[in-house]
Amino acid sequence: MPRLARRHLPWLLAALALAAAGDVWIARAALADQREAFDTDARIAHRLLSQRVVQHDAILATLALLQPGRGEADGPEQRLPSLYPQVLQVLRRDAGQAWPDARLQAAETQSRTLQRAVLAALDLASGRYWLVRAAEPSSYALRIDVQQLVPWAEWPLPAGSPVRLGLELDGQRHWLQAGNGGDTAWHFDFGKHLAAESQPFDMVARRALGGRDLPWWAMAAWTLFAAIGVAAMASWQRQRTERRRAEELLRLGQVGRLNALGELAAGMAHELNQPLTALLASTQAARRLLDDDPPELATARDAMRQAAEQARRAADVVGRLRRAVERPDRLGDTRPVDLHDAVRNVMHLLDPECRRRHVDVAWQLPSAAVVVKADPVALEQVVHNLVMNALQALDQVPAEERRLNLTLIRDGSTGLLHVADNGPGIAPELLARVFEPFFSTRDGGMGLGLSLCETLATAMGGTLTAHHHAPRGAEFRLVLPLAPQTTA
Ligand code: ADP
Repeated sequence: MPRLARRHLPWLLAALALAAAGDVWIARAALADQREAFDTDARIAHRLLSQRVVQHDAILATLALLQPGRGEADGPEQRLPSLYPQVLQVLRRDAGQAWPDARLQAAETQSRTLQRAVLAALDLASGRYWLVRAAEPSSYALRIDVQQLVPWAEWPLPAGSPVRLGLELDGQRHWLQAGNGGDTAWHFDFGKHLAAESQPFDMVARRALGGRDLPWWAMAAWTLFAAIGVAAMASWQRQRTERRRAEELLRLGQVGRLNALGELAAGMAHELNQPLTALLASTQAARRLLDDDPPELATARDAMRQAAEQARRAADVVGRLRRAVERPDRLGDTRPVDLHDAVRNVMHLLDPECRRRHVDVAWQLPSAAVVVKADPVALEQVVHNLVMNALQALDQVPAEERRLNLTLIRDGSTGLLHVADNGPGIAPELLARVFEPFFSTRDGGMGLGLSLCETLATAMGGTLTAHHHAPRGAEFRLVLPLAPQTTA
């Protein structure tokens, strides 16, 4: 996976998870609202239909009691259809007459036993049924149009509503309202008996759901919000990491500069010490010669003695300076340090630098940790210098070839770090000289970096050497003693 994708992947996953969680919540809330609205509408429809069917019982009970139109061909009960649109026809069977349909006769017999109206000749396919009530001397029957049961004026579901609603009884069904089908996997259902014993229909309702029922705008807005939020967090986090990295680099740089100054002083001391010692020796010899025959001037003797004293004092000063810059207190502070951690810290700091210079970094790590005895700051300083030198050397080769190899090895009682590059390398005759103070082939180079690294490595009980890296390039090998408890 490309490095860019790897860096952004966790944030991308976080944004996706946040967006998905929010969208699910929004969708569930919206569907819960729709479910509630559907249930409310279905309950109202159920109440209205129940009232209608109960009305039929009341009409028949009234007819049975009042016995209107008895003995007349066209009694007042024939005016009922104009009052109740669902009543298509009213039949009356006077004593001694027969019903036109045997099924009405059977229903009347049943009605007599049950003492209530009884349903007959149910035909929900064509939306019709009879309701018969036995009475004395005349029995009555109503023919009902199922479709007209709906009181449209108070009906909660407007025309075009997606809810499908119908009545069911004995395996027959009549849709009062078609809705938008309903044979989808995803739907709300409602089912309840109508509250009339004589007409025990089941009212069934179904609201089919589809993609259109989801609150897409709210979900899109949340997704956008989540993406922006996570992007802001990622950017904040990146800035924080950058700031830390810059602070760390500054710190390493400052320590480096301080150490380089120390190195400078150490170099000066080294170079001054020899001539001063020689001066001391020659002045002492001169004094002895002056004491020989022929005798010399007393003032000359005195001057030579003073010169010798000055020289000794200078040597003392240089000696003090040297002891001071070696700072044994700081470098003596060694403790177990995981070499991999130290190198990783430095590489983390130099990561932007490597990317800017298009340097491909390859690691080779042993299976077990390499814990060395070192001063962590000095160790990082050494690694930082070696890697920076390698990056500078790699500037001299084409970008696509630049490669830096970091190898950690655990060898007996020592831990090794090899920093190798495939830059121009170091000429064999110069290999030994690169550690000398002020040796530099770089424009503007002070030539103190490697000298300082070697001093630090030695102070930690280790070594630093330079080698040729086949087929091309330079390799620096840092060897440090393993921390005591890990050498076994
Ligand atoms: P500076 O970097 O200031 O020159 P250094 O002490 O760090 O001082 O390096 C001394 C010299 O060693 C460099 O000028 C360069 O010639 C040589 N050198 C160091 N590292 C490398 C490397 N990785 N490849 C080639 N030459 C190197």
